[in-house]
Amino acid sequence: MLTLIRDARLVVPMDDRRSRLAGGWVLVRDEKIEAVGEASSPPSVRADRVVDATGKVVLPGFVNTHHHLPQTLTRNVPAVQEAPLFRWLVELYEIWRGMDEEATAVAARVGLSELLLTGCTTTTDHLYLFPPGQERLIDVEIGVASELGIRFHPTRGSMSRGRSRGGLPPDDVVQDEEAILADSRRLIREYHDPRPGAMTRIALAPCSPFSVTDDLMRRTADLAREHGVRLHTHLAETKDEETYCLEVNGCRPVEYLDRLGWLGSDVWLAHCVHLSAEEVRQFGETGTGVAHCPSSNFRLGSGVSPVRELMDAGVPVGLGVDGSASNDSSNMLAEVRQALLAHRPGREPAQWLTAEDALWLATRGGARCLGRDDVGSLEPGKAADLVLVDTRRLSYAGAGSDPLAALVFSPWPEPVDTVMVNGRIVVERGELQGVDVPRLIAHADEASAALLDAALRTSGRDYRRKGSGHES
Ligand SMILES: [Zn+2]
Repeated sequence: MLTLIRDARLVVPMDDRRSRLAGGWVLVRDEKIEAVGEASSPPSVRADRVVDATGKVVLPGFVNTHHHLPQTLTRNVPAVQEAPLFRWLVELYEIWRGMDEEATAVAARVGLSELLLTGCTTTTDHLYLFPPGQERLIDVEIGVASELGIRFHPTRGSMSRGRSRGGLPPDDVVQDEEAILADSRRLIREYHDPRPGAMTRIALAPCSPFSVTDDLMRRTADLAREHGVRLHTHLAETKDEETYCLEVNGCRPVEYLDRLGWLGSDVWLAHCVHLSAEEVRQFGETGTGVAHCPSSNFRLGSGVSPVRELMDAGVPVGLGVDGSASNDSSNMLAEVRQALLAHRPGREPAQWLTAEDALWLATRGGARCLGRDDVGSLEPGKAADLVLVDTRRLSYAGAGSDPLAALVFSPWPEPVDTVMVNGRIVVERGELQGVDVPRLIAHADEASAALLDAALRTSGRDYRRKGSGHES
């Protein structure tokens, strides 16, 4: 099937030449991009399907490098609206322990729908809390992603160091290490597709230095390398984590990872807020990637990652919306704007990120973090993952001299007109194909209320009230 997207206001391929094609067009054959061009050189083909892109900016689909989809049901929980990371986690474990397959499915459907509607065509997820008897939650997410048509890189998260072993999570939500490794092997075997154009790839992702053991970190890295899958975890998110690491391991978080064989071009790490200049250099030398999550870092008061320095050091840097309990949305374009703004206070303007820098992180940077050279730009041979944004909207009025930057400086809340993933149109005229959104919202609200009710019964705490929790 040949699809021609034509007469765009602007096509921005995010290629190395940083081209901007006024009046441009994109030709898609089946799942791949066949050609891209500007108004002066229209393609002479008879297309099976023509998409009129008048007034629209055409971009590669965004790549989201960090998320926790189940948290979509615990957004904005009053008891932790003002909590920093460790207290926030200790409180929320008590709610998340109630997740089951049905709740996970509705949470994933909400989060993935929001991502698609804000221009994201490839996303990861980091699912690390498996309540007893709920071992198939990643399988459920993979089913939902495939139904919605988004490219999906779920990571098999894990926690093995409970409170009795000096970790942060309660003992009954951590898993046995052998069970974690066996399930990691199973997921790779059943779902990991290493081929170009893959819709599903698995990565392995022990949760954080304060919830897994050294032994699990090492064995997970060995397993990932044996199977050629990538590694992911949280790192250097807060000062509390740094203090924990110095006390327990006698070194800073980056040195801890280095000792465990966890720096390398097959690894990408969420947050990396608290890095020294030397650690930034080490990331550049080893090719270790970073998932930058500015909204979450602001929300939890964690700090600001040295993204300009990381970019200058050649580190692969992508953007992540992070889980919806710390963002509290999965709006990818809002995250691009947050990245634009986050690195300005207190810095020389020459070091500020531009709108194009922020979009680069969301496309090329993210693709590099995930080890993909087949997504992130609109070039012949790449996967047909693209987004059309209609600039004929109120929020863009008066911003016409730079329609690309307008998408970042003046964002529309749900900006996307059309989204194509792997050649399939999954959003058309701003509507998700095949999703009954009002019904989905009702279902999510019910599932969220049920989780808070269950937490009240099991822990005796009412998370609907501010300050009802304990201090950790
Ligand atoms: Zn996270």
